[in-house]
Amino acid sequence: MQYADYTLWQRGLLGGDQDHDSVLARQVAYWEAALADLPEQLDLPFDRSRPALPTYRGGHITVEVDAELHRGLVELARKHQVTMFMVLQAGLAVLLSRSGAGTDIPIGVPVAGRGGDEGLHHLVGFFVNTLVLRADLSGDPSFTELLRRVRDTDLAAYAHQDVPFERLVEVLNPVRSTAHHPLFQVMLASDEDTSREWAAEGLRAEGLPLAGDSAKFDLSLTFRSRHEPDGTPDGIGIALEYAADLFDHDTVEALVGRFIALLGQFTADPGLRVGDVELLTAAERDLVVSRWNDTTRDIPMTVLPDLVAAQAARTPDAVALESDGVAWTYAELDERSNRLARHLIGLGVGPERVVAVALPRSPDLIAAILAVSKAGAAHLPIDPGYPADRIGYMLTDANPVAVLTNRAASANLPERSPVVLLDDPAVTAAVAERPGHPVTDDDRTAPLLAAHRAYVIYTSGSTGRPKGVVVSHQGLANLAAFMVHTLAITPESRMAQLLSLSFDMSLLEVLSALTSGATLVLPPPGQLAGEELADTMRELRITHAVVAPAALAGAAPERLPGLECLVVGGEALPAEMVAEWSTGRRMFNAYGPTETTVCTTISGPLTAGGAPPIGPPNWNVRSYVLDSRLTPVPPGVAGELYLAGPGLARGYLNQPGLTALRFVACPFEPGQRMYRTGDLVRWRDDGELEYLGRVDQQVKIRGFRIEPGEVEAVLAAQPGVEHAVVVVREDRPGDRRLVGYVQPEAGAVPDPAGLRAAAARVLPAHMVPNAVMVLDALPLSINGKLDRKALPAPTFATGAGRKPATPLEEQLCELFAEVLGVERVGVDDSFFELGGHSLLSAVLVARLEEQFGIAISLRDFLGDPSVSGITGREAQR
Ligand code: AMP
Ligand code: MG
Repeated sequence: MQYADYTLWQRGLLGGDQDHDSVLARQVAYWEAALADLPEQLDLPFDRSRPALPTYRGGHITVEVDAELHRGLVELARKHQVTMFMVLQAGLAVLLSRSGAGTDIPIGVPVAGRGGDEGLHHLVGFFVNTLVLRADLSGDPSFTELLRRVRDTDLAAYAHQDVPFERLVEVLNPVRSTAHHPLFQVMLASDEDTSREWAAEGLRAEGLPLAGDSAKFDLSLTFRSRHEPDGTPDGIGIALEYAADLFDHDTVEALVGRFIALLGQFTADPGLRVGDVELLTAAERDLVVSRWNDTTRDIPMTVLPDLVAAQAARTPDAVALESDGVAWTYAELDERSNRLARHLIGLGVGPERVVAVALPRSPDLIAAILAVSKAGAAHLPIDPGYPADRIGYMLTDANPVAVLTNRAASANLPERSPVVLLDDPAVTAAVAERPGHPVTDDDRTAPLLAAHRAYVIYTSGSTGRPKGVVVSHQGLANLAAFMVHTLAITPESRMAQLLSLSFDMSLLEVLSALTSGATLVLPPPGQLAGEELADTMRELRITHAVVAPAALAGAAPERLPGLECLVVGGEALPAEMVAEWSTGRRMFNAYGPTETTVCTTISGPLTAGGAPPIGPPNWNVRSYVLDSRLTPVPPGVAGELYLAGPGLARGYLNQPGLTALRFVACPFEPGQRMYRTGDLVRWRDDGELEYLGRVDQQVKIRGFRIEPGEVEAVLAAQPGVEHAVVVVREDRPGDRRLVGYVQPEAGAVPDPAGLRAAAARVLPAHMVPNAVMVLDALPLSINGKLDRKALPAPTFATGAGRKPATPLEEQLCELFAEVLGVERVGVDDSFFELGGHSLLSAVLVARLEEQFGIAISLRDFLGDPSVSGITGREAQR
């Protein structure tokens, strides 16, 4: 046969794939089933994120399996009736799986492609085909069991090896990307030493290694077994090629070292489970468990009220709070809160009790929090803007002794709440009569201990209702001391109070200012973002601020020369933002779940370049990066973050089961608990942690923590809705939106706007989907699981409203449409009905000023968020 005839021959042999009985059609059907729901790509411990266009630059490493291990492997293969290739494939699958790639490990393998046809055997040419061998490591099998699985899969694959790989890719149609190889990214090949067979008369043959400066795959391993003339195993040479776009040499070297080590362990004990093989050397283990967690500092445990009272005693005349012309000294703040505390004690408030606080940002709010604390109770922040239904749930669940509020803010509270109206003259008078000297245990209903509740903060719950996190005083002194030190807060500092008290990060603002003699500066109530935030910070001469990354979008760093220190936290910090904001000031990335008291890791001052880390553990915090069996993973490998230390919350209010699930026994500190964060992180080589994402569905939008399950439960409870799914989409870069998808009950026709309105009646604004799409059926994968990637981009009802009548209306409608990313906007259309959200409204407000000279505050815009709202307001001026 001539090479040119090969294709025709192949077609003749295999048949077309339209022909159902042809070899090709049968083989294609096999692969469709065998490779269903293949992971799109393997998550390996990359040093850099994958570029959109690979350079194909490669690096090269060779290692040796010594003769002794080689003999062990041969023996292992023989005993379990597998080939050496299968043993190495199984070992490689274990390495990748334990390096963060999951339990479904596809590996590519070249096959000779000469099939069974004798006619091909003497033909010179390149017929190599590529097969995808998929190893199933689920259920933590023993190595023996894994070898059995690998053999079964491989034999079946070899029996269907004739479908050309390109054809397979066409048929299976995986998500195609220029960035990575389809179907598999790791290759394993055996390169048996054939030089002896080649040594024909008059011909000298010698194997030459290919130069390893290019890489087609993420990793590609080629092995060659050597034998003594009598056939005794004499070692295996492994040549490894890696994509230099993704890996550093050291990382791959460490990986290969682990590969050899795990082969040794399995050879010694083939019954060992995949999860039990030790990946870390003793030194690495010591590093990740102990050395990088060596954070001990002697910080005496102090209850929150004493921390602030001590500062008041040190700097009584310094200004503690400043707000809209009001300035309270430390002595004043102390006295006011002492009086209110005594009033509360008179109402039965004391340690372990809860007092809700529903007030807008104001000095009164800060004094109220301190008063609750001085009385010995836990404060429960309530955002007065939340729907009455949600507030009602929180109050019923937490059962507070009192709700501190004022007339305006109490409008949304359920009727029979035990309110204390702080602007009620009778209350003011009663409070004023109380003595203002320091409150001590002698005044309290019982002595206040560090283990008592300091506050209860509600956060989204995946089961459909929010959950109250109960935090004690134990971590607060440590947090305050660490933050004052790290952020270099001095009595001259002016710390902004920007965050809602419903975010625990607000305590970082309050505590670090009020325990260092600095001034806490409070802008008027309302959410600030973008340019308005920047203007406010400049006007108020803020030196220190804590913000969510999203709030900075649209603000210009150059205009804030006075801002010395910027702490960004609460959600992933984009590298571009660091580049923009880190010059001219110190910028920190702070991380911490509410369940661990505000902040547990913080980066050092950041500089532009690369993904910003979330830092090493804070003083007295330990962080463990573990796999699903609570085994530490090696540096560079993704694992789930577990946290231990004094700041661990007591648990979830009234939810012992959930508490037990998330606060688990710490294997590294007998008798201690650790909190399971659900965050995927990895150790960098310098002992700082890098945030990679979530292990579950929880999301953050503009700093708000949202369990999609909670929103789904609300949508699913609406009449006519059978199923609901809620996801975050980023269809335009930087514009993250919450989108709900519902599948109607048979015959029902739910109305998207009605569903959003229903959600808004029970959920806080940030949890209401920006769009709801009604789909005939939710898209499912072959396995019957929800296929998230197949969910369509939301469409927004557009142009329904009145058409613009004046040139200004027309231009404004265009601006709305542009900011929202929709085609048309009517004059009366609500910005939020068309998918708008708080961040986009900040962008819009900035553009209004920039392009039209229309100065409108975010708050006023929210009052009537439409074109007619803006023109109406302008007309009145
Ligand atoms: P919260 O309890 O509202 O503070 O939310 C805690 C969660 O927010 C964490 O578990 C992370 O998922 C996320 N998070 C907080 N800070 C950061 C950060 N700096 N980088 C990335 N994610 C963060
Ligand atoms: Mg936090």
